[in-house]
Amino acid sequence: MNLAERDQHTIWHPYTQMKTAALPIPIVRGEGALLFAEDGTTYIDAVASWWVNLHGHAHPYIAQKVSEQLSTLEHVIFAGFTHPAAVTFAERLLQILPQGQSRIFYSDNGSTAVEVAMKMAIQYWNNLGIPKKKIIAFRDSYHGDTFGAMSVSARSAFTAPFWSYLFEVAFIDVPTAGNEEESIKQLEAFAATGDVAAFIYEPLVLGTAGMVMYTPEVLNQMLKICRSHDILTIADEVMTGFGRTGRLFASEYLPEQPDMVCLSKGLTGGTMALGATSCNEKIYEAFLHDDKSKTLFHGHSYTANPVACAAGLASMDLLLTEETQQSIKHIEARHAAFIQSIKDLPQVKEARQCGTILAVEFEDGGTSYFSDLRDTLYSFGLDHGVILRPLGNIIYVIPPYCITDAQLDQVYKTIHGMQEVVTGQRHHPRPDLDMLHD
Ligand SMILES: *Cc1c(COP(=O)(O)O)cnc(C)c1O
Repeated sequence: MNLAERDQHTIWHPYTQMKTAALPIPIVRGEGALLFAEDGTTYIDAVASWWVNLHGHAHPYIAQKVSEQLSTLEHVIFAGFTHPAAVTFAERLLQILPQGQSRIFYSDNGSTAVEVAMKMAIQYWNNLGIPKKKIIAFRDSYHGDTFGAMSVSARSAFTAPFWSYLFEVAFIDVPTAGNEEESIKQLEAFAATGDVAAFIYEPLVLGTAGMVMYTPEVLNQMLKICRSHDILTIADEVMTGFGRTGRLFASEYLPEQPDMVCLSKGLTGGTMALGATSCNEKIYEAFLHDDKSKTLFHGHSYTANPVACAAGLASMDLLLTEETQQSIKHIEARHAAFIQSIKDLPQVKEARQCGTILAVEFEDGGTSYFSDLRDTLYSFGLDHGVILRPLGNIIYVIPPYCITDAQLDQVYKTIHGMQEVVTGQRHHPRPDLDMLHD
């Protein structure tokens, strides 16, 4: 049996209908933005392996730092003990995080970073003796797959079996162009009830919703409203963090700053699983008490894993180099030029960009129903040596910053070529319309 067949006998893959999915592509090596398959095919990783990779695959500098850490201290319990990598990484994160953040709480992934933030927010009010129950979130948001994270995420086909188990959330519309006023109105109405503990949001770009974008101005206005109603604000920067939007964090585009920030994905440059939740001193202090019941009772076995922290430190070294910052600017400029070249094509409904994140929304035959277009576009990309995972009729590019001009050319050419597939596409309206997510 080859690797894909052995896989089929043993593995259950994420977000995959195992009955109908094609065999997985066995990847045996990575270098820069390229992934090498077992059969010798090479792929450009235009989605940074689910938005995690910043500096390319198997980066020698990160590999060296991880290797050094592995042979020094691989792991240690993080309650009652600490270690240099965790402390240094926290210090350095706080230097670059949005203003006001003063503490780092480590966990394992984006979902746990969100869980921790929400538990901090809810228990903050509990500890102060001011019970506030509600959490506000964007209707189309995605904050992860654990139950708390699912609760504050869109009620989509993905979470339908669990709806009755999810806690109630005050959902508001995303303030996309033209919808700002309505969204603000909804926020104000919920805020006025006085029962809102926190507002959690993906700043400027909602990833899984389809790279849906909105302005820093309207977000700033929303954060101000929250502040005036004593509502804690949680920036879920799991996707947008570490340069994706052109600045280190999306929150940097606005003067109002969040009380908490959730990080993962690019946190280790895509090398190790790690999550982090940061908070400001106000939140931290609400947990300091002689009464032990005010403690944040949360932790994971691998909290602050030294190897993951070492990967994070190495990735941050690379991220802050002039070379990487120039690459980010360069990708931004190239995306902008590409948008100009395709935005007027009849098959293109909208092309948009936020920093290094590019999204091209194809016409979907006048229906938002799920169609075969997604699968067709996905295969088209692979056939042209580019990994692009469409969100329904939306193609996006979130490249590793080390992607070369020639590789970007191939990515753009592939997307450009997709217009022909879109034209020839037949649409089959289906009842599971929300399945266009992911
Ligand atoms: C991916 C993502 C998460 C969940 O992170 P996982 O590591 O997959 O659990 C949470 N929030 C946002 C904005 C994300 O993009």
